Amino acid sequence: MKRILITGAAGFIGSHLCDRFIAEGHEVIAMDNLITGDLKNIKHLFPLERFTFYNHDVTNFVYVPGKLDYILHFASPASPIDYLKIPIQTLKVGALGTHNLLGLAKEKKARFMIASTSEIYGDPLVHPQTEEYYGNVNTIGPRGVYDEAKRFQESITMAYHRFHGLDTRIVRIFNTYGPRMRLNDGRVIPAFMGQALRGEDLTVFGDGSQTRSFCYVDDEIEGIYRLLMSDYTHPVNIGNPNEITIKDFAEEIIKLTGTDQKIIYKPLPKDDPMQRQPDITKAKEILGWEPKVGREEGMRKTFEFFKGLSTEELEKTEH
Ligand code: NAD
Ligand code: UDP
Repeated sequence: MKRILITGAAGFIGSHLCDRFIAEGHEVIAMDNLITGDLKNIKHLFPLERFTFYNHDVTNFVYVPGKLDYILHFASPASPIDYLKIPIQTLKVGALGTHNLLGLAKEKKARFMIASTSEIYGDPLVHPQTEEYYGNVNTIGPRGVYDEAKRFQESITMAYHRFHGLDTRIVRIFNTYGPRMRLNDGRVIPAFMGQALRGEDLTVFGDGSQTRSFCYVDDEIEGIYRLLMSDYTHPVNIGNPNEITIKDFAEEIIKLTGTDQKIIYKPLPKDDPMQRQPDITKAKEILGWEPKVGREEGMRKTFEFFKGLSTEELEKTEH
């Protein structure tokens, strides 16, 4: 049995990671300050002896008693409307939070993984994006707070790896979706599904020609798990290469949900990447991983989850 610290554990991906490590028979120490997460995502784990929760902001000194085998630093606002609302906290959790957790990993001689992102590629000029691409980020644009925090996070992690010999993993996560996403987090899937459920028109930003490639959360967790267990210390893209334009995606959602609403167009947010598709050659070769859940099946499961929310939760929209 391994002892694992997961930060951002009450969030969407963090909570699924907790489930996975508990299912594998390990002990999970979950940490979160609930700034964008929700305890309801992990409340089913509270009765377990192998599960402990700390309500803590990781930008402050982090202390965990006892040994730790793995530290997975997943705490960070992740949706554009979150990190635009709390830009300083976003920079701090990527910079100070990562530094604190690296210090803890060094102290405990723990393997250390960070949740990096496709956003480090910015508005990419190389397509699909390989791990070798350095990216095209506007440092001073509104999204820069997230992108640069994550780029710094990668740099300081590699510095600890090279200078202190820390055992590190860097997963570059591409757009992931599934149950436990927040309906009002502004990301496109909760936004469209919430609009369909409330009987509102679907808001496509720009002309909808920008693309994304959506990965179902179970596939993403499997890729992250395999990377952690591998001995590969450099960044690996984990995402689904099946790319679609946002306009075509809105049409798919209209069909899936059976809504009789239409598409309306709103201005494209500044620095919104025009295209995004992971090159997953590395993940295939090194981890023997590729996604298994197609968009139709994944979206159906996600819509089932949103349909199960209360009317009160459904009305809590930030649009
Ligand atoms: P989320 O907002 O659901 O979860 C993030 C969690 O981190 C929340 O529970 C939040 O309360 C917690 N948190 C934030 N700042 C904190 C702090 N200072 N101290 C302690 N806890 C803090 O987001 P998510 O989608 O689950 O993303 C998880 C991680 O994966 C993030 O690091 C994100 O950058 C990365 N990522 C996610 C995606 C995606 O598509 N979901 C894509 C790329 C990268
Ligand atoms: N988007 C949209 N309508 C919405 C929310 C988002 O058209 O109501 C677009 C957004 O501009 C972007 C894409 O959908 O081009 C994905 O946005 P999301 O916030 O989900 O993720 P990210 O931009 O971080 O990939």
